[in-house]
Amino acid sequence: MSRPVDTVIEFLKTEQTRGKTHVFLDDAARTALRELYLRTQSKPAAPAPARATPAPQAAVLKAEAPPEPVAAPVPTHVTATGATKAERLASLRSQAESWAPARSLGTLRDTIVFASGNPEARLMLIGEAPGYEDERKREPFAGPAGQKLNDILKAMGIVRDDAYLTNIVKFRPAAPRQTTNNRKPSPEELAAFLPFIRAEIDVIQPTCILALGATAAEGLLGLTGAIAAMRGSWHDFHGTPVRVTLHPGSLLHTSADLSTKRQLWEDMLSIMEKLGLPISDRQRGFFLPKP
Ligand code: URA
Repeated sequence: MSRPVDTVIEFLKTEQTRGKTHVFLDDAARTALRELYLRTQSKPAAPAPARATPAPQAAVLKAEAPPEPVAAPVPTHVTATGATKAERLASLRSQAESWAPARSLGTLRDTIVFASGNPEARLMLIGEAPGYEDERKREPFAGPAGQKLNDILKAMGIVRDDAYLTNIVKFRPAAPRQTTNNRKPSPEELAAFLPFIRAEIDVIQPTCILALGATAAEGLLGLTGAIAAMRGSWHDFHGTPVRVTLHPGSLLHTSADLSTKRQLWEDMLSIMEKLGLPISDRQRGFFLPKP
């Protein structure tokens, strides 16, 4: 069974493979590492570790020196099995259902919401995590944000069922006294499911990916900060072009003005161009201020 410190180590390794040399760790992560350090110090007869593991004191730790795991390493890779794309996705879904690195966090609810849409899709959409309605219907983007997404896809001339829709995190994040309220997934929850997103992309082989919102971009690409700096250009995920845009839920707010809608629409125009879809003059002009 995976321990909290294994999750921290896994998170550090993922960040390291993304080229990060420093990470912020919260109190729980620092406590887990400190406990591991104290355990290694209280075993005088144990052989010297391959690498020194300095006591973590600062909030910023060097990712080059994560402590060596003392138990079986957390799996970072999942293998999709089956003859067809649909079978391979089904095999991923069943592995995700009992995925120890995520389940052992104890912070996620129990109903899996894996993905929906066409395994042969050329466009893959990635959100953050299922919410209340999505969990109820066991389908990503089944609630109000999903309605907005449907409108956007329709305006692009794309039928929702022709795309592949998934989330980084496959279970609804739990919160105290939770009813219909949803919580943003934590960095640990995002990191725990990254192997599944990688495997889904390997199966689908989309022409391009649309990451919906800053949290999806963080989980997929390791980007942090303002969405304004993430959108407007192409990113790369192991050879697949990725566009980051605003979360469709942000258009539900009354503060979503014409220029916010135009920003999202310009990202959609880039997706349409990448997919080689026809774009009419009318579509090019959506959400531009009236002269
Ligand atoms: N529903 C989803 O499935 N994903 C999101 O990111 C938001 C709502």
